[in-house]
Amino acid sequence: MTDGTGWQEDWREHIWLPYAQMKHIAPPLPVVATNGTRIRLADGRELVDGIASWWTACHGYNHPHIRAAVTRQIEVMPHVMFGGLVHEPAVRLATRLAALLPGDLDRVFFSDSGSVSVEVAMKMAVQYWLNRGIRGRTKMLAFRGAYHGDTFATMAVCDPDEGMHKHFAGILHENIIADLPHDDENAATLDALVARHANEIAAIIVEPLVQGAGGMLFHEPEVLRRLRALADKYDLLLIFDEVFTGFGRTGTMFACEAAQVVPDIICFSKALTGGTMALAATVAREKVFEAFWSDDPARALMHGPTFMANALACAAANASLDLFESEPRLEQVARIEAALQAGLEACRGTPGVRDVRVRGAIGVVELEKIDDLAALKRRFVARGVFIRPFGKIVYLTPALTIDNIDLKRLTDAVVHVVRQIP
Ligand code: PLP
Repeated sequence: MTDGTGWQEDWREHIWLPYAQMKHIAPPLPVVATNGTRIRLADGRELVDGIASWWTACHGYNHPHIRAAVTRQIEVMPHVMFGGLVHEPAVRLATRLAALLPGDLDRVFFSDSGSVSVEVAMKMAVQYWLNRGIRGRTKMLAFRGAYHGDTFATMAVCDPDEGMHKHFAGILHENIIADLPHDDENAATLDALVARHANEIAAIIVEPLVQGAGGMLFHEPEVLRRLRALADKYDLLLIFDEVFTGFGRTGTMFACEAAQVVPDIICFSKALTGGTMALAATVAREKVFEAFWSDDPARALMHGPTFMANALACAAANASLDLFESEPRLEQVARIEAALQAGLEACRGTPGVRDVRVRGAIGVVELEKIDDLAALKRRFVARGVFIRPFGKIVYLTPALTIDNIDLKRLTDAVVHVVRQIP
């Protein structure tokens, strides 16, 4: 069933799609509608979305409360230039984020993507030192295999040896890449590395609890406590990239809460609007913000995306926060975690499976290798699910509203497909 216009094929002529130019990747599926945890394809098939639109649609698609809020906002003011003008949806959202976040993380800079939220965080960190008359602190300390975005500066904090952007090694600004301090031994190694480079480092940047696109690697809250202690010892800023982990994915509203560690700057995007609109927020502590508070333009943070604090997106984000308050969203994560654990357990011991791990609403089956990614994706579709493995990782990150029936469809599909891998 198509609409007869042929648009399902026309995308090839005019649209650049990430990775679609790579021959081994299956072509994109034409989608016409989304609802709840389902995706409807142009040919009428319905798939259960196993990845919540790349970790964004935490309340499922087309939630009536978010739809109503966006509809109300579009009638009044969809977008207006921000800065010089300021509007209620943005002020309300910033106030609510500040109230939800731990410590004095209460100064919100709005932008429009995860990469830009991280880029801004790093700019803030470097400028923070410049404003103190220190010009040498321009590097970031980042972690092996990490992924923080696709802009030039965020690519430079993705691991040049193992990360997605390694082909740019030697071209990008050089940062310092280290191992996460999982135990006393690598904490001591990291301490020695920082001691050597302390006067070059502006900030430590890390994804708390789960290194998402960088391999879906889990680490313990203790790691974050060690990083906070290290940052305090050497007077570095600590940036948490919660673009993936923010808004319930790991079981608390923000992953940093599990460790009770307050970073100096924190980044959000993806699920901030419940996955409906492009919006991002970089939130800084008073101490960071204070460094910019001056009449001297050279001390200000020069960054002003045209669509910053888009009013529709802010309305969607406020509605998303309403849902975290009014519906038992975080309470559902334990149920999802248990279902993922029970369902994916059957993959353990399957030839070709290296590891199975679950944390919060994240289920990971790590394979030894994936030879035919396109075939794998097709097999998932044939089982009625939409799952997009990357690297050697098959992961489930469904909406936090997913019911047990759809969860079972997802985990059964993963078990079935993984067992078929030659
Ligand atoms: N940071 C993390 C941890 C991410 O997972 C991503 C995207 O996957 C980004 C940054 C970049 O976000 P965006 O794709 O919105 O630019």
